[in-house]
Amino acid sequence: MSFQNPVFIPGPTNIPESLRKACDMPTIDHRSPLFGQILHPAREGVRKVLKSDSAEIFIFPSTGTGGWETALTNTLSAGDTVLAARNGMFSHRWIDMCQRHGLKVDIVETAWGEGLPADRYAEILAADTAHEIRAVLATHNETATGVKSDIAAVRRALDAAGHPAMLFVDGVSSIASMDFRFDEWGVDVAVTGSQKGFMLPAGLAIVGFSRKAMDATRTGTLPRTFFDVHDMAKGYASNAYPYTPAVGLLNGLNQACDLLLREGLENVFARHHRIAEGVRAAVRAWGLDLCAVDPSVYSDTVSAIRTPEGFNATDIVTHAAEKYGVAFGVGLGEVAGKVFRIGHLGSLTDVMALSGIATAEMCMADLGLDIKLGSGVAAAQDYYRGHPAEAHKDAA
Ligand SMILES: *Cc1c(COP(=O)(O)O)cnc(C)c1O
Repeated sequence: MSFQNPVFIPGPTNIPESLRKACDMPTIDHRSPLFGQILHPAREGVRKVLKSDSAEIFIFPSTGTGGWETALTNTLSAGDTVLAARNGMFSHRWIDMCQRHGLKVDIVETAWGEGLPADRYAEILAADTAHEIRAVLATHNETATGVKSDIAAVRRALDAAGHPAMLFVDGVSSIASMDFRFDEWGVDVAVTGSQKGFMLPAGLAIVGFSRKAMDATRTGTLPRTFFDVHDMAKGYASNAYPYTPAVGLLNGLNQACDLLLREGLENVFARHHRIAEGVRAAVRAWGLDLCAVDPSVYSDTVSAIRTPEGFNATDIVTHAAEKYGVAFGVGLGEVAGKVFRIGHLGSLTDVMALSGIATAEMCMADLGLDIKLGSGVAAAQDYYRGHPAEAHKDAA
């Protein structure tokens, strides 16, 4: 591996210099007004990134997975039913966590490559007239398959059924990179981490709770200690945590939100879309298919690319690391060996994306795939030339 090349894994993502510096700070008293000057703006920044006026933001020293656990343990009780679709490795792991916590999971098996079947959710919710289902789980962006799902459609399914279940959304690989509307979509718990769209090192679980989710914390009886949102809220009220916070990361998060909001969220989303379109143009030029079944579910943060039958896609990832010092993502679970992934989220420019596309081409040619060198690069160049980035004056 090289420390100079950007990474093309879908998290952790490349860290802008300004954020690396923001994380590197002297020790301060983590129970002090000075700490409050980092903590409160960071929470306010996250709330804006979620497009919410009123979500309660909690930030734990953890990762996205801890955010899932925060959502479940604070609001639910053993034996409660939740509804979830399984369409990739991350939705699978969240379901597994529910089961380990003694929840009953009504699983909608969905092909890997497809989005959440909101129509199936609608039928199941309409049939659940006793309102047994306490929460609906939705993975906004399935990082294993490069598939985006329609969260607004899940909200419509709940509303059409007049169903009171909460809506929990895993936005770990979408929030801060793809449009996410906490208030408009009626999200009750949103979950993310620091190392994807926020462009920081791993180490923070970031969650937003709606009023309804906060109310559910008073009836849910699953055990919780480290991830107890009430302990956390009590800490926040006195500029502190119930334990020792990751102060440097919180300082980084505060700056990351500033960076994103200064660029403008809509510009951030447009930048991710443009870069993703360039990668997709390259994939088409290679004559390969995405794992995502159709354009309506294409992810703007990661592309999972199918390789021909009989070829082990993981070889591309191993070869890229060994020969060129570049990191791509391997296929996970059901698509292990069948896809390799190009992560294109966080701090990335057209120029960086082109270098990743060029490297993928070299690897595929080295390994004997029928890929013409320069074909994908040229397709992406054409796209980027025709869709120029906004001015670079404020780039990180
Ligand atoms: C990365 C990721 C996770 C897991 O997050 P960690 O920070 O690794 O715990 C969960 N869900 C999705 C969609 C992800 O991309």
